[in-house]
Amino acid sequence: MRKSTRRIGLFFLLHWYFSGFMQTFFLHRYASHRIFTMSKFWERMFYLLTFLTQGSSFLNPRAYAIMHRMHHAHSDTEKDPHSPVQHGNVFKMMWHTYKVYSDIVNRRTNLGGEFDTNLPEWKEFDRAVSGIPMRLVFVGFYTLFYLRFARSPWQFLLLPVHIVMGPVHGAIVNWFGHRVGYRNSDDIHDNSRNTLPFDFLTQGELFQNNHHRYPGRPNLAIKWFEFDPTYPWILFLDRIGIIKLREKAKEKRHEIPQKYEAISI
Ligand SMILES: [Zn+2]
Ligand SMILES: [Zn+2]
Repeated sequence: MRKSTRRIGLFFLLHWYFSGFMQTFFLHRYASHRIFTMSKFWERMFYLLTFLTQGSSFLNPRAYAIMHRMHHAHSDTEKDPHSPVQHGNVFKMMWHTYKVYSDIVNRRTNLGGEFDTNLPEWKEFDRAVSGIPMRLVFVGFYTLFYLRFARSPWQFLLLPVHIVMGPVHGAIVNWFGHRVGYRNSDDIHDNSRNTLPFDFLTQGELFQNNHHRYPGRPNLAIKWFEFDPTYPWILFLDRIGIIKLREKAKEKRHEIPQKYEAISI
């Protein structure tokens, strides 16, 4: 394989991986569920890293968390911001999600209560980076990279994926995760599924059924044949003191401790 083709492939994989990692680690497991805690310093560091890795499709952590808490509270009902049960196709679902998200970002939705507490906020940073011009800076960077290294026209087909990487991950998780796959728990009233036993695509996010059953559990895999690629990183970051698991989860890998039994946001 030519060196330039390898560079495009590597760039795509790295962007996919780190953008997805920040989504599941910071936006989802930390901002939305507070599965672990971290100091203000590290919160700002991960905030910044989420911005840098998600780039043109950066999702505001506060808005993401509120929207995700709505998803758990109203899973697969009319009030769910993204349910494949409620929409005829993935594009309609994502358009609805976009509208809910922008209402939250622009503070046109005020849910209050447990939806709007304990969220990572960095107003000065948000003011500085929000808006179309900053998104265009990232689009320009991705385009320049492709112009420099792409050697055949088909490689440019990947460029739009970089630009809307966050929504692409969201569409995969929210559409397939509540539509395709198997269920370990049938005692929850939604359509959540576990789509892949080894979620190499979205780093654990496709264990929707496990996660809806035990939203506070750091490991999204339950069965022996399941693997959540983000969980070892969580254990590692806890061990070196960068994050702190809410309660030191000393469970064996596939055990469900009593404390995760309660179904809550
Ligand atoms: Zn879900
Ligand atoms: Zn969740």
